[in-house]
Parts: sequence; structure tokens; C-alpha cells
Amino acid sequence: MLSLINLSQAPAGGLPIYGIGTKVPGVRWAVLGGGLAGVTLARLLHERGHGVQVFEKERETGGLCRSRAERGFTFDTGGSHVIFSRDAEVLGFMHQVLGENREVRDRQTKIFYKGRYVKYPFENGLAELPKEDLFFCLSEFVKALIASEKGEFSPPANFREWMVQTFGKGIAESYLIPYNEKIWKIAPEQMSAHWVEGRVPRPPVEDILKSAIGIETEGYTHQAVFSYPRTGGIESLVKAIGAPVREFISTGAPVTSVRRERKGFVLQAGGREARADRVVSTIPLPALLPCLGDVPDGVREACDGLRSTALLSVCIGIRGRVPPYSWVYIPSPEVGLFNRVSFPSNYSPAVAPPGHSSVLAEITCLREDPVFSAPDGEIVSHVIGGLGKMGVLDDPGKVMYTAVERSPFAYVVYDLAYQARIRVVREFCGDRGIHLVGRFSQFEYLNMDGVIRSAMDFAEGAS
Ligand SMILES: Cc1cc2nc3c(=O)[nH]c(=O)nc-3n(C[C@H](O)[C@H](O)[C@H](O)COP(=O)(O)OP(=O)(O)OC[C@H]3O[C@@H](n4cnc5c(N)ncnc54)[C@H](O)[C@@H]3O)c2cc1C
Repeated sequence: MLSLINLSQAPAGGLPIYGIGTKVPGVRWAVLGGGLAGVTLARLLHERGHGVQVFEKERETGGLCRSRAERGFTFDTGGSHVIFSRDAEVLGFMHQVLGENREVRDRQTKIFYKGRYVKYPFENGLAELPKEDLFFCLSEFVKALIASEKGEFSPPANFREWMVQTFGKGIAESYLIPYNEKIWKIAPEQMSAHWVEGRVPRPPVEDILKSAIGIETEGYTHQAVFSYPRTGGIESLVKAIGAPVREFISTGAPVTSVRRERKGFVLQAGGREARADRVVSTIPLPALLPCLGDVPDGVREACDGLRSTALLSVCIGIRGRVPPYSWVYIPSPEVGLFNRVSFPSNYSPAVAPPGHSSVLAEITCLREDPVFSAPDGEIVSHVIGGLGKMGVLDDPGKVMYTAVERSPFAYVVYDLAYQARIRVVREFCGDRGIHLVGRFSQFEYLNMDGVIRSAMDFAEGAS
């Protein structure tokens, strides 16, 4: 028989839980999901005097921001994460919660292009390209600039057109298109341009010229300096945010049903029933909708059509050193399936044993792709082979540790039907009284800072 838990009188025990809220009077918020969004919401709502309870499916909080510590190595399991932001308030919040547990680094990022390490962003590393490629990139950039000035471009109909119009055919075809095909698993002409248009400006012509003749220029300066927890990996950020509200977080509590009643909501989570006055969901929309019941076919189809990729994080600990880079983008499919390789031991020496280094390779795929369920050994061998081609690992005998982590929801993919579909799903959730905060709940390409900003804005307006 199910026991009915009223969040204001909840008994502890039975479930692997940190605790259930009993202390805070006032409005009771149920927060679905205990990733960065859920934990941040819990803290901010609690600080504003609201009663709050988080329900997280896994035994640990953190979601994509979890880390795995084993045999002296610490790896982020949802791909490599670093802390940066244009949003001063959010950045200040992240720094403040980490306190002393923070290393600061200059970004040293490269693109592995035709066997050479080219400065990132690509348009800032043009002088490092083979001469013919440099000419192609430069002349096509100038052509695009002239066409734009003469008003010859119509608004880009898709992501591919946006890349060509903004950077020219040279930069687009040499780097942007292959890289984007590799990460999104969809042709760029089938992707919308709405998410970059207006936000990513055409690089200034002076920068392109300087870059072409080898004068240093920096792109994406908001990311040029980043920080990273000294110990514990990125998960320690979520832990630090959640520390004041640990007792209001239930782990091992997957939400399976959210029913609206005349007053408030009744939830099924981890085999128990719970009541809440209000619900905010941070779990992926495709996980939320089945919990709601009586979902009209049109809404279900719209949700099923929302596209996203999964991720394999391949963790490799090695004896000796790695190149002095933060991370490297790999557009070419010939080097390997992975689109990015990072070097966490360059963020903080505490994440690898003395005399050792760490490499984290990221492979995006669709959840149904065979590679997502391929045996770990095959994936690790593939990555080790690719690292050999990149000159990162000269001797596979130096590999001291390997692990493969799988994240079913990693990147939101903005295809051409995205805007129509998300509108339908959001409207439905709104009608059901469910608030949406977080990367796969809002179904937006939000980094940690965007997620925290959403949580801050939400908590500010919460009643
Ligand atoms: C490869 C990669 C690299 C990244 N690098 C950076 C970076 O360098 N810097 C940066 O700022 N951002 C980075 N990000 C983005 C960052 O990971 C996200 O913005 C952030 O983790 C999203 O948090 P969230 O809580 O919204 O979602 P999630 O982390 O997805 O959390 C959702 C939670 O809901 C839980 N859940 C799911 N179903 C249920 C259910 N039925 N019941 C209860 N709980 C459920 C899940 O277990 C999970 O804990 C990166 C992302 C990826 C994929």
C-alpha cells in the first residue's frame, strides 16, 4: 500500500533519501529532478522562505554535472565542464559557493585540423592553416562581407546558410560545417538558425585580417579565463550549492506521476506518494510528459519530435604528461568518433595522481545509435587509437585507468521543427500548472550559467 506523504509532515526512512522537508513553513514546492537546476532551485526557494522538496531519480544529485572519483582520478561524467559566464551575478554566485575550492586557468583551446593544432576559435587561428586553406577562408570571408554589405543575403533559412553568410564558405566548409555535423548528428541545413542569429556576430574584419597574418587576437573572450573546482570535479559545485538544503533532497526517487488536484498536486516518486502546492520540473520533457497522464496525441507527438543527442564520456587516466591544452575540438571523422578531447588534469592537478594526467573524450550520438550501447572496451580502444593519431598518447601502455559514462540527454538539437514543437509542449505544461526550469525541461541549449540564471529568475518570482 502506498503511504501518503504530506510534505509538511513527512516521515523519513524507507527510501535512500537525504531527508524530507519538515521544517520550513509556507508554500510547498515540489522540484522534479536534482541536477544543477533542481538543486539550485531548492536552495534559492528555501532562502526565500518557501518549503521545498526535490525528487531525484538517481542515487546522487548533479545530473550532467556529476563527477566520478576513482583510483586518484576525478572525471566529470557528463562531459568536461568549466565555469565561465558573461552574467556577473551568476558567475559571482558560482565562485562564492565554491570559495577556496577553485582553480583559475587561461583557456588554451585548439582545433585539431589536418594534423595540426590550430588556435580556437578557428577564425582567430587562420595563420596556422595551410596556405591554400588560409586563402580559401580569407577570400570567402571577404566575399561574404561584401555580399552582406550590398544587401544580397536574405535571412538565413537554416544553420548552414547562417554559417556561410556569417563566416564565409571557407571557414564554414573547412571547420564549422564538419564540426557541427559531428556534434549534432544532423545536417546543418536541417537545423534552425534562430539560436545563433543575432547572438553570434560576424567577426570584425580587422580580427580576421590580423588572424590571417599571425597577429594575436582573441575570440569568445567571456570564456578566455575559466575556473574549475580544485577538488571533486564539477560535482563539487552542485554539492556546494545544495549543502544548505541537503535535507530537502530525496535521491533514488524517480517521479512517475504528477496529478493535479483541486488544491495542489499529488506525486508518485520512488514508490511513494507526496503532496505539494506547486510543482517545478527540471527533468527532461520526454521524462515529464509520461508522468502527466491524458496527454493529447498532438502534444505527445510534438514532444517525441523534440530532438536531442546522447553522450559517451570516455575517461582515460595516463602515466606521464598530456599536451598543455584545456581542450581540443576534432572536426574530422577520420581521427575518431569523438568531437572533443579535454585534459582535466590541466584544470586542476588534484584530479589526477602525481605523475599522471587525464583525458576526457566526448562522443555524441543518438540514443538509438549502436555506439551508445557498444561495449566499453570497444569504445575505449577506439578513443586510444584516435589519441595516438593526435599525438596525445604515444604508448597505449601508459593507460592506467579507463571508464565510459553514458548520458542519455546531453545536447538539445534545434531542428527546423523545434520552435513549433516546443511551443505546443510548453503550452500544455503551462495549462497543467507545471513550471519548467533547466536544460532539458526548458529544452534549450543552456550552460550552467543559463540554468542558474533561470533558477534565480524563477525563485525571484515564485510565490
Ligand atoms: C558535454 C557537455 C559539456 C558541458 N560543458 C559545460 C561547461 O563547460 N560549462 C557550462 O556552464 N555548462 C556545460 N554544460 C551544460 C551543463 O551540463 C548543463 O547546463 C547543466 O548540467 C544542466 O542542468 P539541469 O539540472 O538543467 O539538467 P540535468 O543535469 O539533465 O538534470 C536533470 C536531472 O533530472 C533527473 N531526472 C530525470 N528523470 C527523472 C525522473 N523521472 N524523476 C526524478 N528525477 C529525474 C536526472 O537524473 C538529472 O539529475 C555541458 C553539457 C554537456 C552535455
